[in-house]
Amino acid sequence: TPASARRPIRELPDELISQIAAGEVVERPASVVRELVDNAMDAGARSITLRLMGGGTRLISVEDDGGGIAPDELATALKRHATSKIGNLDELESVMTMGFRGEALAAINSVSELTLLSRMDGQPNAFALDGRTGEICPAARAVGTTVEVKELFFSTPARRKFLKSDSTELAHCIEAVRRHALARPDVGFAIWHEGKLVEQWRVHPGAAGLEQRLADVLGEEFVAQSIAVAYNAGPLKVIGRAGLPDAARSRPDHQFAYVNGRFVRDKVVMHGARSAYEDVLHGHKQPAYALFMEIDPTLVDVNVHPTKIEVRFRDSRAVHQAVRHALENALAAPRSQNLSDMPP
Ligand code: ADP
Ligand code: MG
Repeated sequence: TPASARRPIRELPDELISQIAAGEVVERPASVVRELVDNAMDAGARSITLRLMGGGTRLISVEDDGGGIAPDELATALKRHATSKIGNLDELESVMTMGFRGEALAAINSVSELTLLSRMDGQPNAFALDGRTGEICPAARAVGTTVEVKELFFSTPARRKFLKSDSTELAHCIEAVRRHALARPDVGFAIWHEGKLVEQWRVHPGAAGLEQRLADVLGEEFVAQSIAVAYNAGPLKVIGRAGLPDAARSRPDHQFAYVNGRFVRDKVVMHGARSAYEDVLHGHKQPAYALFMEIDPTLVDVNVHPTKIEVRFRDSRAVHQAVRHALENALAAPRSQNLSDMPP
């Protein structure tokens, strides 16, 4: 339609609104994976299994052992702006769950064939909801939830065209789970593709769990070539591991930063980290690190970006300094500080 053509102003139909909104949240199969794993973790899952076909373009199934969804709330879960996680502005400002926008399931449902299968704690059986027809029928399942997403973007061919090869999409899906897995050594993950187990990260309870999970996900050499970070600056705590200068990489693929358990790609954090390596890293070498920040949730706004990968800090200078000092202190510490060098 030419921009000059006069057309009456009309409200868009519901489905089109969801499809437009989906553009912000669902870019590719990995975005679906991230949202569904977020939901599983918010539901208190201890074990999360992903089954993918065609790199996630044909099937993404995420199975959890969380608390489940009440049968009479299944349909509501697929509605836009429907959430159990916040109910007012105060709760938004102190939100600790991964989700709170109530958008993901609605968005995914509008660009795929979605089935929601769930059994709530205390219920005798599960129920399955067909996202397209709205039909609900009884089903068999242990307590927990399975979300099955088939034929992503089947109804939006323009989007579908942007998908890369199955193996590229699969790699992005695995990366999305990897980001979650690093933050939660207390949760077990398994990823199947085309019926084959491609990744499995077992639960590591206790204090050494994080280090073991880092070794499982990023490799033994990441742990061996890094120093433990433990920094406390009042309302801001940073733990994790700082890669030694020798362990720097050509690509920034081992840079993981978390704020209250949420993976972020934040300019302030990345710049703070970069500046800690200023004197020890030269050229275009990329430091390796995994940093887990705990900050009073009222001092960080996570409602900046639909995917929540960017956040806004009330005091970004303090965050920048804390990250920088946390890493500098670790890098300056004698090698014996490296936990993996210590006798068990
Ligand atoms: P949000 O996570 O922002 O609340 P979603 O659209 O992702 O929005 O999910 C909507 C609601 O559906 C959630 O608030 C939650 O109550 C429920 N839900 C979604 N996935 C699960 C799950 N795996 N287990 C239990 N409840 C879930
Ligand atoms: Mg969610």
